[in-house]
Amino acid sequence: MELLFVRSVNVTDKNKDAILKSKLENGIYLSAHGSYYINLNSSEPEKQEQSIARILKGAKALGEVQGRSIVFHCGYYKNYSVEDTYQRIMEKLNSMPYFNVDYRLETTGKKNQFGTLIELVSICKEIKTCKLCIDFSHIHARYNGRLKTYEDFADILHYVSEQLGKSALYDMHIHIAGINYNQNGEKNHLPLLESDFNFVECLRALKNYEVKGCVVAEGPLVEKDAILLKKTYENL
Ligand SMILES: [Zn+2]
Repeated sequence: MELLFVRSVNVTDKNKDAILKSKLENGIYLSAHGSYYINLNSSEPEKQEQSIARILKGAKALGEVQGRSIVFHCGYYKNYSVEDTYQRIMEKLNSMPYFNVDYRLETTGKKNQFGTLIELVSICKEIKTCKLCIDFSHIHARYNGRLKTYEDFADILHYVSEQLGKSALYDMHIHIAGINYNQNGEKNHLPLLESDFNFVECLRALKNYEVKGCVVAEGPLVEKDAILLKKTYENL
């Protein structure tokens, strides 16, 4: 289950014991989606610092309930080159203390957002506290509907395994959703069955590559889509 810290951190002193109890009783893998208001590449130092503070606050709160991964989008290119953005974001990520909660860098769906698979894999190679969150739907949308066949998904898993080792596939965090997009990338999430996202071949690739970890459904029908994904996977 992914807790939504997207507007505020909702694990508090009041509810953390109940969350932890429920997590342990039900054997749930807990992660959190970090704040939407993060830009580690902001030209304003104050905004960079605020972004880091939001990530750290989320990581600490998640750690209190034994969560494993805080997922976030690193930021935007804005007026910086791709190379400068990479360096500036990496510096910030490298400066962040570790609270036993992995920083999961999410592949992003819009062309103006930092976070291609290649960029994030490269950061994960350099910084031990950072791991991948592969949002397949974002990759699909960023390139105007690029993921169509089994091979398209397999290529991604092959690349990750080649670059980060098989161990990365055995500890993976994944987002899957239906998605609406145009030439600039992601527009909005959709229910899986109302979109062209080929979740069946995506799941088949996950199964064949023996990927382990966590798949989180997103979108307007999140519970329904989570069950759809689970049943589809089990029937492959
Ligand atoms: Zn996200």
